[in-house]
Amino acid sequence: MHGYGVRIRKKVAAVKALTVAKHPCPFCGKQAVRRESTGIWKCRSCGAEFAGGAYTPQTEVGDAAKKAVDTLQQS
Ligand SMILES: [Zn+2]
Repeated sequence: MHGYGVRIRKKVAAVKALTVAKHPCPFCGKQAVRRESTGIWKCRSCGAEFAGGAYTPQTEVGDAAKKAVDTLQQS
């Protein structure tokens, strides 16, 4: 499994970036959701606090979050 460790390290870096990044709020739609602690997310805009994934507010990481970001960037 040559290169396996490198791939893991890259993934960890990406996950770290996700945890410090702001995410779109499912309630007000603003890009203001920050991670409070593992699995706990809070919107700085409307104050909504909700449980989500460990690394992103959505438990289904990927398409759903990506789609939300794309929608925000288009508008
Ligand atoms: Zn909000």
